[in-house]
Amino acid sequence: MNTQNAIAELDTKHGILIDGSAHGASRTFEVHDPATGLVIAEVADGTVADAESAVDAAHRAFGDWAASSPRQRSEILRRVYELMLADTDRLVALICAENGKSQADARAEVGYAAEFFRWFSEEAVRTDGVYGISPAGGTRTLVTHKPVGVAALVTPWNFPAAMATRKIAPALAAGCTVVLKPAAETPLTALAIAAILSAAGVPDGVVNVVPTTDAAAVVSAWLADDRVRKVSFTGSTGVGRVLLKQAADRIVNASMELGGNAPFVVTADADVAAAVQGAMVAKYRGGGQACTAANRFYVHAAVVDEFVARFSAEVSALRVGPAADPASQIGPLVSARAAERVAAAIESAVADGAVIAAAAETPDDGWFVAPTVLTGVAPDAAIIADEIFGPVAPVVVWETEDDLLRWVNDTEYGLAAYIYAGRLQDALRLAESFDAGMVGINRGIVSDPSAPFGGMKQSGLGREGARDGLHEFQETQYFSVEF
Ligand code: NAD
Repeated sequence: MNTQNAIAELDTKHGILIDGSAHGASRTFEVHDPATGLVIAEVADGTVADAESAVDAAHRAFGDWAASSPRQRSEILRRVYELMLADTDRLVALICAENGKSQADARAEVGYAAEFFRWFSEEAVRTDGVYGISPAGGTRTLVTHKPVGVAALVTPWNFPAAMATRKIAPALAAGCTVVLKPAAETPLTALAIAAILSAAGVPDGVVNVVPTTDAAAVVSAWLADDRVRKVSFTGSTGVGRVLLKQAADRIVNASMELGGNAPFVVTADADVAAAVQGAMVAKYRGGGQACTAANRFYVHAAVVDEFVARFSAEVSALRVGPAADPASQIGPLVSARAAERVAAAIESAVADGAVIAAAAETPDDGWFVAPTVLTGVAPDAAIIADEIFGPVAPVVVWETEDDLLRWVNDTEYGLAAYIYAGRLQDALRLAESFDAGMVGINRGIVSDPSAPFGGMKQSGLGREGARDGLHEFQETQYFSVEF
């Protein structure tokens, strides 16, 4: 679909969605195409007053939505899934325009994002509970689950569709109503999804959206509001810490999907060709701007030369360019600031002794950084310790498992990890020692709506997807029954 038409249809100057109505604001903010730096839309800039009105609407809608039958909610969610898939081309156009990722990556994201509605439409009707007999007899224990209440959802720019649907779908399945603040870099996809929700029959007020450049004020207002009982955040560990402190004031139930620093391990007996294919996905999906992106490669000395040669050949051949070109495999970074940060990380790694083994060609204009492979990287280099969030792959050589496990776990993060090994027993033995919520074993991707996504350590609290994702939006209640 034509991108300009897709954006025009959204009426972004009235992009604040409260109680089913579109509202404008006294100010707008600009959204840019990262491939050109040009302004592609002006979006209503939500205020604290809008944030409060959004909670008013979500609070009013809560009673009826929570009381609707699981089957009613399930069928609406299923329709959202179908409408999202039917609208794939439009959503791809919007994601490409505001995030810059390639068309193939955007298409994969839409499929993944829609799948959360199918998965949670299926989970919505599985209202499990427990009927127990107390050990001493005499009383019976009944355990059930209720929606936690109005939920504040805060999402990042790197998966403009999936990070929103991974929260909205379980919240609605559980019977919660929501207020959503998308990232200011990528509000357009969220607005398109809100329109789809409405078309699928989600009642007014159940999903409210407040795009804003004043994230701190809007989200603080939500966390200070007695009617908001849940915050679900995806973003950096730094902002997650700030929100957890704010949530502490009213003991708001919090789920946090935070930063990562995923190791990618290749053992001496791994299938190197398969490991390179996995590395291309784990590192280069979305140009490395994923919380699960492989951030550091630990390759055994016995296979490092072959791995680097094959990996370098693949990376050098990557087609880097604007998403508007269907042949582009890697787009620009999301902002000028992000591109400068990643370019500086490469420069400082090289100054510290790393060698550029491969670098793809990039266009001159736009916020592009060359996909790069670095060798000769020390295990304690800054580029290993920091979350790169860009298309750079530093390779470290390992020889003993003691070193490997120490290096893998020497980080405050614990989101994803990857291992390629010849024997499944070795892969599992090592993976069980990784402090990571998710480990890809002989595969370079871990995201799956039916699996519990989340991190250990400072990568987060709670899980999204699977059955766990629904429980994040529920309170457990039990009845003690005299018998
Ligand atoms: P970010 O933390 O800067 O922003 C995330 C969201 O928080 C945005 O909506 C932003 O507007 C908002 N925000 C920023 N400051 C805020 C404040 N003071 N109060 C309230 N809200 C605030 O992160 P980002 O740069 O958008 O995204 C990149 C980060 O997200 C990376 O660290 C990445 O690893 C992480 N991430 C994690 C997951 C996961 O599932 N664990 C998924 C995707 C991204």
